Amino acid sequence: MLNIGCHLSAAKGYLHMGEEAVSIGANTFQFFTRNPRGGAAKAIDESDVKAFTAFAKEHGFSKILAHAPYTLNACSDKEATREFALNTMRDDLARMEYTPGQLYNFHPGSHVGQGAQVGIELIVKQLNAVLTKDMTTTVLLETMAGKGSEVGRSFEELRAIIDGVELREKMGVCLDTCHVYDAGYDIVNDLDGVLDEFDRVIGLERLKAIHMNDSKNPFESHKDRHEKIGEGAIGLDAMVRIINCPRLQGIPVLLETPNELDGYAKEIKMLRDAYAF
Ligand code: FE
Ligand code: FE
Ligand code: ZN
Repeated sequence: MLNIGCHLSAAKGYLHMGEEAVSIGANTFQFFTRNPRGGAAKAIDESDVKAFTAFAKEHGFSKILAHAPYTLNACSDKEATREFALNTMRDDLARMEYTPGQLYNFHPGSHVGQGAQVGIELIVKQLNAVLTKDMTTTVLLETMAGKGSEVGRSFEELRAIIDGVELREKMGVCLDTCHVYDAGYDIVNDLDGVLDEFDRVIGLERLKAIHMNDSKNPFESHKDRHEKIGEGAIGLDAMVRIINCPRLQGIPVLLETPNELDGYAKEIKMLRDAYAF
């Protein structure tokens, strides 16, 4: 079973996202918990969540992925920015409990010149402040392209964050194909080697979601520009090897390619047609 979906707008609520997903052949999706640039979140509509939960069950949805706003930076050098990140994540995680047992992904942050070590310590501090024993959500660190002072450009940096978290069982990783390729992990010519390294450094059991994006830029560019599937430097063959990789079965795959709904529908069909299991 290929669990695949794409990024959808949350403006019309959960049930609407579920219906939209089904209409394009998806059985999962990603959405922003609030405006990607930050700001207040819409109040949760409990009847909408309830209707969605029934709908998702009926249509065999896998786990869905909530994405934190980009502006969230737990390792900023500014206290106010760090505080915003902390409050936003805490609020997001409280809201996530309306849909128990799902996934919450965030960009670890940018250390803005303080160095990766300081960045990692600040991110750890925030996670230790917001994670709770009772929460049912798994919090995912996204693999980053290494643009600017991004933390999370290597598996070692992600491992260091996880190592610092007390409630480590709440943590996982979301692998973004564009980002890791951009960061210098050759998933085109050596997928197995990259997965071996992921397993050695982080542990493959922590891999909970895949962002499937082609890349506008060549290997190791550190630029983070997504391209449509098959139209970038990674190419369709490499994507097909990823979805058909025995070690990655069951992990939800989310497209964040530059597309409207019809474009996403085409990519989902293309990948489902190439799925071998
Ligand atoms: Fe992301
Ligand atoms: Fe991503
Ligand atoms: Zn990206």
